[in-house]
Amino acid sequence: MRILYQLLILVLLFFTAYSAAQDPLFIEEHTADEIPLTSKLYITQFDDASSLEQVEAVSPQKWQEYNPKAMRGIAKSDYWVRFSLAHKASVPRELILSFDNPHLDYIEFYHFNGSTLLNQFQVGDSFPFSKRPILSTQLLYSFNSKQQDTHHFYLRVETSGTSNLPITLWSSDAYYQDAERHSILYGFQIGVLMAIGIFSLLIAVISHSLSYSYYAGYVLSITLFVASLHGLAFRFIWPEWPRMQEFALPALLSLSMMFAFLFSEKVMRLKYHNQAMLRLCRVSAAMSVLLLLIGLPLDYSTALNLNVYAVMLSSIMLMYMSLAQAFKGNKLAKLFAIGWAGMMLGALLSGAIYLGLLHWDLQAKTPFMVGLSIEVIFMAALLAIRYNDERLAKLQIQQDALLQAKKAKEVKEEALHIEARSSEKLAKMVQERTLELEIALRELNEANQKLTEQTRIDSLTGVKNRASFDKRIRAEGRISRRQQTPLSILMLDIDRFKLINDSYGHLAGDQALRAIADELKQILKRPTDLVSRFGGEEFAIILPNTDKIGAQQVAETIRKVISKLPISWGGNRIRLTVSIGVISEIVTSEEHTTLLLEQADKALYQAKNDGRNQVKLYSPDQD
Ligand code: GH3
Ligand code: MG
Ligand code: MG
Repeated sequence: MRILYQLLILVLLFFTAYSAAQDPLFIEEHTADEIPLTSKLYITQFDDASSLEQVEAVSPQKWQEYNPKAMRGIAKSDYWVRFSLAHKASVPRELILSFDNPHLDYIEFYHFNGSTLLNQFQVGDSFPFSKRPILSTQLLYSFNSKQQDTHHFYLRVETSGTSNLPITLWSSDAYYQDAERHSILYGFQIGVLMAIGIFSLLIAVISHSLSYSYYAGYVLSITLFVASLHGLAFRFIWPEWPRMQEFALPALLSLSMMFAFLFSEKVMRLKYHNQAMLRLCRVSAAMSVLLLLIGLPLDYSTALNLNVYAVMLSSIMLMYMSLAQAFKGNKLAKLFAIGWAGMMLGALLSGAIYLGLLHWDLQAKTPFMVGLSIEVIFMAALLAIRYNDERLAKLQIQQDALLQAKKAKEVKEEALHIEARSSEKLAKMVQERTLELEIALRELNEANQKLTEQTRIDSLTGVKNRASFDKRIRAEGRISRRQQTPLSILMLDIDRFKLINDSYGHLAGDQALRAIADELKQILKRPTDLVSRFGGEEFAIILPNTDKIGAQQVAETIRKVISKLPISWGGNRIRLTVSIGVISEIVTSEEHTTLLLEQADKALYQAKNDGRNQVKLYSPDQD
């Protein structure tokens, strides 16, 4: 059965090989390293051409030359493509066929050399990545060719996306160089996008900035979109889920549109500038989400086409809004408009090429990629400027606040200063008053002291009075008793004083009393000695800690000095003498002092009796 089948194929191939040989590509010595095969492709489509046999049976007239217009009509259907290569060059070559649309869902591939089937396999987006003949983001087929080889290729293509079939024939060397160039370019582009996206995301997370969140969302979904567009996402992110590819592209477009609207609204500050545009942006963002949801159950081709139209419309809307804002003098909107102009132009061109509205010798994605790069860079600059503006505004506010705080501090310091000054003043006043009070108190004290002093002093003579003597004799009596020291008392009486009064008058007598008192104060130098006026013209002298001999000597000195005292009154010299009774004992009891006074008085009496002007020590026989 299998042999029969192969035989049938061979017979059929004979025909088709013949008819296909009508316009092969000749590989000659000078043939270029990279040849687009678009002009060498023949295409046919019919409902029941599901097997190679049937296709090969198709009459040559039914094979049309491939052109994008013809392709547009048959999008979303199965079709067959064939092309042939005739190797004329003498040098063998290693060749590679590349299918530059990574979104072809399914390709059934047959390779004949002459009538020999060399290879057959199935590739496409609907297979896991690992099923590809060469593990590359592009669909590749590599084969060797030498002189006289005639290669026939049959491809059954099924795709629900773009039916664009850009097949290129490469010499393997040229292909590898080109592939390397592309991978660096794509890697760089995706790397830059991803870096900006992640950077923005980090700023968004750290600073809780909505604008940066939207921008990060936009850049990251665009990055993913670009990665899937280049076939990189399929290779690296979801190699085992070929179906993912089908809704990833439309979904990512919807998502990036949503973010673009949200971001635009923030960055142009539409909230403050234009409420209508703000609403438009938000509604459009909501519509993008709706589009995303609608796209999920739809088939890939419809969803993608819908999204491409939506992207073009969105670009125009955003362009219009940014221009309107820019003309109104919105500084950020100007930069935004330039960014969007690049993006929009790219998106429009790419969309037009993709939809077959524009024929340009370019991959549909190229203008979009260029525009996108311009836009992403401008938006990043824009965010940086906006961020800086905000930072400066915050700085200004901070500086204002600092200034306010400084002023407040100054006022507070001033208040404190005033308070300190007034309390200082108060303290000074209190101090002054206290001083005044102290002075007054001291004066009062002094006055008091003077008063008490005066009560103790005899007003005529200025020596201590009798009260003072009595108080002192008691105290000295106790000291003598405690310390067992002799206490001496001198009792002094002016001789014949009555006579002086009588002769010269009382004033002369008073004068004489004062003169004698002054002399006594002079003679008695010990601070503990006490001179007092005992009464009339009698003086009592206390000599603490003084024995009989000492007391007698002091008494004798007094007597002598007074006898020579020059007292004059009314031109007359008054001669005065004194008699002194002396007693010296260690006091033994409280009453003893009284006894001592009596005994001193007795000694004085004895002195008077013995003829006056003399000192007498008490002796018991005087009793
Ligand atoms: P004598 O003691 O030597 O026995 O004789 P005398 O004249 O001093 O006698 P007497 O003691 O009796 O007299 C005391 C006189 O001293 C009486 C009075 O005239 C006088 N006399 C007493 N007190 C004062 C006084 O305060 N001022 C004056 N001028 N005379 C006084
Ligand atoms: Mg007397
Ligand atoms: Mg006398």
